[in-house]
Amino acid sequence: MKILISDAFDPSLPGKLERFGEVTTDKSLLPEVDVVLIRSKTKCTKDYMDSAKNLKLIIRGGVGLDNVDRVYAKEKGIAVYNTASASAIAVAELAFAMMIAVPSHIVKAHNSMADGKWIKKQLKRTELFGKTLGLLGVGHIGSEVAKRAVAFGMKVVAYDPLFKEHAHAVIVHSVEEMVKDADYISLHVPLVESTKELINKELIEKMKDGVVVINTARGKIVVEEDMAEALKNGKVKTYATDVWYSDPPDSSSPILSAPNTLLAPHIGASSKENLLRIGDVIVDILDNFVKE
Ligand code: NAD
Repeated sequence: MKILISDAFDPSLPGKLERFGEVTTDKSLLPEVDVVLIRSKTKCTKDYMDSAKNLKLIIRGGVGLDNVDRVYAKEKGIAVYNTASASAIAVAELAFAMMIAVPSHIVKAHNSMADGKWIKKQLKRTELFGKTLGLLGVGHIGSEVAKRAVAFGMKVVAYDPLFKEHAHAVIVHSVEEMVKDADYISLHVPLVESTKELINKELIEKMKDGVVVINTARGKIVVEEDMAEALKNGKVKTYATDVWYSDPPDSSSPILSAPNTLLAPHIGASSKENLLRIGDVIVDILDNFVKE
């Protein structure tokens, strides 16, 4: 079996895969390989799959599968897997880190000190304790965020059509109901038709004044122009995002020039531990694949 490692994985991965056959990172060998391992960078489009004449299996190290044309893969009999559960803790910790950093002004406090300024009076903090967190999606990642929020004494409400109840969140029946009383809103849904541009002007108007929105899901769930406007007029106090319309974002993205943002370059899944876990899940998938 020939395996192409097409994107960046933990350096231990090639060693773990040797027992399955030949492992390469040479993308020019695409027409010969049986398996392709991708993360976010490689786009498995129709043309990509057509040029991979022997391709039988695509494994995405990560959760979302929006960079794979799954309909066409199915047509061609190419199996597609992701490593769904592996990344939950890594992403939840980033979402939570953002949620702590915002009301404690961590970035501003650090930058002012590094600039030699003492702006203690301007840095009045607020606490997460007693505040309401609204979760859009309470699957693997949303659940880990909910657990952490409960430990911080927050009230957690969630909207997710798959759930009627949840151990760490009160489930509500619409996205409008979820956003109306939330002080913090954290997004944990896939990018699909029903979630694309879901966070738009109309929904933002239904949010509490001064809400903080955290996006570690996908950039296109939020209409960037509408969010930038809400940041300018103060409706949204802060937009913390790890995800963009494209990686990296176009320099014209209105979020880059908007006030009151906390920005990260899509590092949610990039913990050392997660990259190791992803490698182990890939080995399990390959083990099962060769047995079939
Ligand atoms: P998951 O499948 O376990 O959970 C997603 C949940 O969203 C499901 O329970 C589903 O029912 C719910 N959902 C779907 N459509 C919805 C809608 N319209 N309204 C409300 N809920 C809806 O996935 P997960 O592991 O929790 O990951 C969530 C997303 O996080 C991924 O799809 C991916 O886009 C993103 N992600 C980002 C990073 C990063 O690096 N920032 C890393 C991994 C995953």
